[in-house]
Amino acid sequence: MVDKHVNFFALQKACEKPGCPLCTIINERIDRYIDGMLFEHISDRTFRAQYRAAGGFCNRHAEALLSYRDGLAVAILGRDTLQDYLADFKKKKIRKRKEICPACAEQLRIEKEFLTFIAEAEDNKKAETETAANSEDIPLPEFFVKSDGLCIPHYAKLITYAKKVPKWLKNFQESYFAKLEERTSRFIEFSAWGRQKDFESLSDADKVVWKELAATLRSQVK
Ligand SMILES: [Zn+2]
Ligand SMILES: [Zn+2]
Repeated sequence: MVDKHVNFFALQKACEKPGCPLCTIINERIDRYIDGMLFEHISDRTFRAQYRAAGGFCNRHAEALLSYRDGLAVAILGRDTLQDYLADFKKKKIRKRKEICPACAEQLRIEKEFLTFIAEAEDNKKAETETAANSEDIPLPEFFVKSDGLCIPHYAKLITYAKKVPKWLKNFQESYFAKLEERTSRFIEFSAWGRQKDFESLSDADKVVWKELAATLRSQVK
């Protein structure tokens, strides 16, 4: 129950920021995760073993190490990986790594947790009081539909994870995506030679709809 309330408020805060709320949460939590893991590098054996088995973080997450404040943590973790590589070089055989990057694993866990949480929020009075921490809280669907909504990759994942997509969420997300498709089609049509006048009649947002489309098609996870 405690986790549910923490997630509820984290989501509410993320919905007030621009962009996909889940991408916002992931960016914040993964920063904190990497920070925490490096800080506890010696005491957390599970993490160190996982890190070693994965051959370190993936390229994307390893970037955080370059600017990390604790050089000793980065050195200790990096030496493990380097030693494994040196052994492999000697044998002229590079081991196959079965573990995925620990930060990527953590990201998958967060995604699954939040997407199921969002998909469980029903748009009816009974469910509202169950989800909200107390009766004065705003129900999840109410603040969620004021956000920019999930990016395409996250909505696609939600459909994969959730047993059932609630009506309010389906309406909110899919009507936006359908409108985006219409706006994009109009943009393409009006970009044709001789349609200069039609193009000029587009709103400022519609003139650069391709930017909005490109942003929605990719996740904003760092
Ligand atoms: Zn997203
Ligand atoms: Zn990673």
